[in-house]
Amino acid sequence: MPELPEVETTRRGLLPHVESHRVLAVTLRRPDLRWPVPTALQEILPGQRITRIERRAKYLLLHTAAGSPLIHLGMSGSLRALASNLPAGQHDHYDLLLDSGRVLRYTDPRRFGCLLWQAPGMLHPLLATLGPEPLSAEFDGDYLWHRAHGRSAPIKTFLMDQRIVVGVGNIYAAEALFAAGIHPLRGAGRVSRARCAALADAVKRILGYAIARGGTTLRDFISPDGVPGYFEQELSVYGRAGQPCKACGHALRVIALGQRSSFYCPHCQH
Ligand SMILES: [Zn+2]
Repeated sequence: MPELPEVETTRRGLLPHVESHRVLAVTLRRPDLRWPVPTALQEILPGQRITRIERRAKYLLLHTAAGSPLIHLGMSGSLRALASNLPAGQHDHYDLLLDSGRVLRYTDPRRFGCLLWQAPGMLHPLLATLGPEPLSAEFDGDYLWHRAHGRSAPIKTFLMDQRIVVGVGNIYAAEALFAAGIHPLRGAGRVSRARCAALADAVKRILGYAIARGGTTLRDFISPDGVPGYFEQELSVYGRAGQPCKACGHALRVIALGQRSSFYCPHCQH
């Protein structure tokens, strides 16, 4: 599944091909993805210039003066700027033809992604309840500590809650908690202010690193279990149950938490 670093890498890769270019035509090859695709954008978008590509959580927004297509890659989606004469395949669900001579093509075998519409000056309901971006100044230890106050939910569940902070997926939560020495089951309200600061720093460092390394062709580096290959060699706990902790040598453990596997070191994390 594309995580925040992959979506940010997609945004950066598309920038030179998409930003400041005009949409000439929209081709929709099916009426829905995860949700119905608003057909009005076939009338609204042509002629509009894409002034900016924004990433918010794992959504991409193509801003124009008339409104903004809101795109999510779902479980298996990808968005590429291709030569416009390349024939569409079975899983290519929509195209935006650009005046750059390229076509912005969305491919998604499992169709859990979406193409929606945000009217100008409005915030789409899907974006309304999202917490801050993990790499923003707004997200820091004090923010986490204040939000965690009085909460008994496990810190890992809390950290993966999109209303608290966006884009901290299962792999990144496990790695950040290990880096901060915090047990995934510890109640969020029982993490000290200093340890909240360590945790926020770890989240920023790990996501920032993944984004910096995401410049390579990600699709070529996905291992069969879905872990991006460029990152796999550097994981401390994720996917390593039973193997020795890189810090202390104790065997790492895995527990089920909210239907997700949570990997941790019983010696280093408390
Ligand atoms: Zn350890």
